Amino acid sequence: MSQDIIFAQSADLESILISEEELTAICDRIAREINEHYRPLVEAGEPLLVVGVLKGSVVFLADILRRINVPLQIEFLRASSYGRSSTSSGVVAIKHAPAPELIAASHVLVVEDILDTGNTLYKVFSVLREQGAKSVKLCTLLDKPSRRQADISADFVGREIPDAFVVGYGLDYADYYRNLPYIGILKPEIYSK
Ligand code: 5GP
Repeated sequence: MSQDIIFAQSADLESILISEEELTAICDRIAREINEHYRPLVEAGEPLLVVGVLKGSVVFLADILRRINVPLQIEFLRASSYGRSSTSSGVVAIKHAPAPELIAASHVLVVEDILDTGNTLYKVFSVLREQGAKSVKLCTLLDKPSRRQADISADFVGREIPDAFVVGYGLDYADYYRNLPYIGILKPEIYSK
C-alpha cells in the first residue's frame, strides 16, 4: 500500500481518534487480560475457541492473536453489517458460523471491532449459547456505550469512544478505509452523500 493511497483516504477523516501507538498499547493490555483469564482454564484441559466477527475484526484479531500465549483454535463468522449506510438496520443475520459441535465443546471468545447498538452481538451470543458453548465472552476493540440498545456488555474492551462514525484498522465505510493503520472519525459529508 503506497503512502499516497493512505494519504488519499486520510483526507476523508475529520481527525485521528486512536493512533498506531495507542492501538499497540491497547493490544498489549487486552492480550494480557485474555491470557490471565484463560490460562487457568486451558491448563485444566478446557478448549478455547476464538471466533472473529468478519470483516471488521481481522486487523485487531491478527494483532492480539500473536500476543495470546495459550493454545487455541480460530474460527470466523459473518453477521449482517451496515453495508453502505452508517446506521444499523437492526436486522441481524448470521452466516458462516463455526460447526455447532465445535462450539458445544469449547469456551468461546468472540472478537469484534466495535460494540455499538449491541444488536449484532446479542444475536451472536444467543446462537452460541443455544448451541451449548461452555462459556461465551466478548472482546471488542471499541465500545460506544451511549448507543446501546441490546442488553450486552464486553468482557475485554480496548477503548470506549463517543458517538462518532469511525474507520480504519479493520473498520470500514462501504468496505473502504480498513487498511488505515489508525482509527479516525469519518467526515459526515462522506457518508451522508
Ligand atoms: P451493532 O449491532 O452493535 O449496532 O453494530 C455492530 C457493527 O456495526 C460493527 O461490527 C460494525 O460493523 C458496525 N459499526 C458500528 N459502529 C460503527 C462505526 O463507528 N464505524 C464503522 N466502520 N462500523 C461501525
